[in-house]
Amino acid sequence: MVETARRIVLASRPVGEPKPSDFRDEEFPIPTPKSGEALLRTLWLSIDPYMRGRMSDAPSYAKPVGVGEVMEGGTVSEVVASNNDGFAPGDIVLGRTGWQTHALSDGRGLRKLDPKRGPVSLALGVLGMPGMTAYTGLLEIGKPQPGETVVVSAASGAVGSAVGQIAKIKGARAVGIAGGEKKCRYVKNELGFDDCVDYRAPDFPARLKAACPKGIDVYFENVGGPVFDAVLPLFNPFARMPVCGLIAYYNAISAPEGPDRLPALMRSVLTKRLTVRGFIVTDFAARTDDFLRDMSTWLREGRIKYREDIVDGFENAPRALIGLLRGENFGKQLVRVAPDTSS
Ligand code: NDP
Repeated sequence: MVETARRIVLASRPVGEPKPSDFRDEEFPIPTPKSGEALLRTLWLSIDPYMRGRMSDAPSYAKPVGVGEVMEGGTVSEVVASNNDGFAPGDIVLGRTGWQTHALSDGRGLRKLDPKRGPVSLALGVLGMPGMTAYTGLLEIGKPQPGETVVVSAASGAVGSAVGQIAKIKGARAVGIAGGEKKCRYVKNELGFDDCVDYRAPDFPARLKAACPKGIDVYFENVGGPVFDAVLPLFNPFARMPVCGLIAYYNAISAPEGPDRLPALMRSVLTKRLTVRGFIVTDFAARTDDFLRDMSTWLREGRIKYREDIVDGFENAPRALIGLLRGENFGKQLVRVAPDTSS
């Protein structure tokens, strides 16, 4: 039997929450590498919130995935055949080969990983794009000072979990916001945040205020929505807000109901002299070496902990993305596409 490859393409642009029918699983022959190319077999596929944005053709910072095109995504793969001098069979590489079991690469954009240094899946999480997002957004924009209060939403997730732990390393008080008691317990007891507040609790604004008795100096924004409404009154003068993500709106099809909050927001920006700055992790590409050095050291020293939420089976990637946008993941969401025997 001839082994075939599989890919998942965007079948239709979702309206609201993506549905399984917005994706299509296709088979194709395993490609043969030409001169200068390597054939990669995907081991790990990263599932990230930005993928919802790529499914939409609304104007954004990046080009959308076309209907019928392979879904974009970061991957860790094994080189299975190579006509490229830089890569040999057995090499493990980080790339962006998308939602497919096999891919050809001319080597551009690939980075070799050393399995002896730890699990290669970390290159998609704490030692990869989400970790780098936490590191750069917090340190370049948030600039936490010892004794200040740093609050981060989606605190049990890939980015948020690193934000709070880096804030602690920098001597700040870290307060997480997460969905549910289980995630909050993990953030406090295992990640070592000073506190964590469940935004689903009916008295969430009062609980957040109690957890931040000296107000908020840095708010690392990952979600928006009602969480931000509770944060806004607590800002101290000259507070900083790195705007990293707004996941509460990614599936929205209309503006939220209720009073216009813009005047209250702008009044706070003015009177409290807030710094609000959006960023995309690639803005800080020049910090990559600093990030890899610091994060590897902190991991080795046990000062940064992480959690992976692994879904087995390539065909389950759409479900994993739908679940991530609902908050069903607990830690960095990954799909194990093929067994990883590298580490
Ligand atoms: P996570 O691992 O944090 O997973 C997403 C989490 O978001 C869910 O688990 C859920 O946690 C939370 N969430 C989902 N819906 C809502 C909602 N309506 N209100 C509040 N929380 C919600 O994902 P990442 O760490 O990968 O990403 C976190 C954020 O960072 C996202 O907004 C993402 O877009 C952004 N990001 C931005 C980058 C940039 O360059 N600017 C790069 C990478 C990520 P809970 O159960 O706690 O609600």
